[in-house]
Amino acid sequence: MPNVQLHDKSFRPFINKGQINEAILKLAGKLQNDYEGKKPLFLGILNGSFLFVADLIREFEGECEVSFLRMASYEGTETTGKVNQVMGLKESLKDRHVIILEDIIDTGNTIEVLIETLKKENPKSLKVATLLFKPNAYKKLYPIDYVAISVGNEFLVGYGLDYDGLGRNLKDIYIINE
Ligand code: 5GP
Ligand code: MG
Repeated sequence: MPNVQLHDKSFRPFINKGQINEAILKLAGKLQNDYEGKKPLFLGILNGSFLFVADLIREFEGECEVSFLRMASYEGTETTGKVNQVMGLKESLKDRHVIILEDIIDTGNTIEVLIETLKKENPKSLKVATLLFKPNAYKKLYPIDYVAISVGNEFLVGYGLDYDGLGRNLKDIYIINE
């Protein structure tokens, strides 16, 4: 596979679609096992997770629901700086088994806001599943319950992940050429 150029940066092939499929199949098997008969509600976080969610839930057999949320960030006061907010929650989470589906977890700032916000809706259980996890960048204490693929701290694109809007449609995952 050739390198790709997005805006001013070049990226080289890193995780191919076959490896992604394999990791998702394995993750779906674990979820299948843990959520048998629990009718889980999968909550995908837009935009990055759309391909991951589409592929994962087709491997999950049995009753489940799927919905999407989006994080919006706005400028707070000088002291609070950037404030992240969860947008688009329509379903009641009360007494539901909820699984957040993320494309990538880096510092954990985003997932912290998500967990804190969704916990207030009193789900029966709340877990996190992510396609990609950067354990060396992660700064929070919340356990990341399901990780399909662990990676280093380098910037990745493809399979839903973008660099300034571009690259989400790449079938494989690419890593930045520094
Ligand atoms: P966190 O809040 O965990 O630091 O990072 C969450 C968000 O940062 C992700 O949802 C994603 O939008 C972005 N991000 C972190 N690492 C990467 C990366 O390697 N590639 C891309 N495209 N986005 C990333
Ligand atoms: Mg994201």
